[in-house]
Amino acid sequence: MTRPEELPIRDDLVNVTEYGAPQLDVSVRINTNENPFEPSKGLVDSIVRRVEDAAMTINRYPDRDALELRTRLASYISESTGLNTGISFNNVWAANGSNEILQQLLQLFGGVGRSALGFEPTYSMHRIICRGTQTEYLSIDRNSDFTIPIASALDEIRSSRPDVVFVCSPNNPTGTTSPLDDIELLYEAIAEECNGVLIVDEAYWEFSSQESAVQLLEGRPRLIVSRTMSKAFSFAGARIGYLVGDPAVVEAVKRVRLPYHLSSITQAVGIAALAHHKELLEGVEVLKKQRDRIAEVSTLLGFLPIDSDANFVLVGGFGDQSKVWSRLVEQGVLVRDVGLDGYLRVSAGTIEETDRFLEVLESLTK
Ligand SMILES: *Cc1c(COP(=O)(O)O)cnc(C)c1O
Repeated sequence: MTRPEELPIRDDLVNVTEYGAPQLDVSVRINTNENPFEPSKGLVDSIVRRVEDAAMTINRYPDRDALELRTRLASYISESTGLNTGISFNNVWAANGSNEILQQLLQLFGGVGRSALGFEPTYSMHRIICRGTQTEYLSIDRNSDFTIPIASALDEIRSSRPDVVFVCSPNNPTGTTSPLDDIELLYEAIAEECNGVLIVDEAYWEFSSQESAVQLLEGRPRLIVSRTMSKAFSFAGARIGYLVGDPAVVEAVKRVRLPYHLSSITQAVGIAALAHHKELLEGVEVLKKQRDRIAEVSTLLGFLPIDSDANFVLVGGFGDQSKVWSRLVEQGVLVRDVGLDGYLRVSAGTIEETDRFLEVLESLTK
């Protein structure tokens, strides 16, 4: 059997392992920040109807520019942001998950001889997508409360002049949000000192009590907000993410996207889900309550959860988190060891899943 190492792969990919959390078959899986709620019967019916229509013309390539999906995303963004942001389909681009959005942006703004800056710990795919696009990844550490150290961030932007800066807000895996004031400061430095772009990854925005960076887009063409339907919309399996930005960004992305990258089936199911956004966002409210319960109860049990604006909580105060992780798995509860000493990341599950996690956690303290 041929091993991958024997193939003539790129030097920088020789010692690389694939990304992915363990997919174990246990009863409570709260390790990947998925939304635990299955789609309603009504949504499933809408999806089936839309897919049936799409199937009639499946011999043809899809709408390359996904105009209807982008138009409906634009309405959803304007409505949910609660402002007349003037966002239209010209400001929106969609792809197979926000990971593909990020990859397209790095193909466009990164590449050989270019660099991107992130604030660690943060979403590890930012680093991995940089590697795939041969963009150098630079990082500075967050403060001990996981906020971004703005003064050192501005210094780093001035000295390293990165082509891309990532701000994940709410940040995965910490749940921390960056205030819009900080994002404005970073933007100014990036636009004035280094000719770069600022990507704000708002994968968890719907779970947040803070304002969206979409509100800052006016007059800031180098600001790009990345979002996804995977988390709040309970739509991880559909693979739909999008960006909101200046129309120039949307036009430019077309230079790197593969033609017909978004299948007609994907476009159809996205349109179906957007029509159900009100019902889907009710699930978000339930999850926010479970998130807050994880924080409250784990505090009572003597652990140290970080304040979260997302659908998960980074809980600290574990001596050896990998041991605790294994003991939770033995009891049928799968959480995420993100490799931060003393911490485990726990996604908000259904009420029952959250109950079970908290029950097992309590039993471990005895
Ligand atoms: C889950 C997640 C994503 C994206 O996922 P897709 O399913 O590819 O849309 C992007 N950014 C962050 C920070 C995430 O946690």
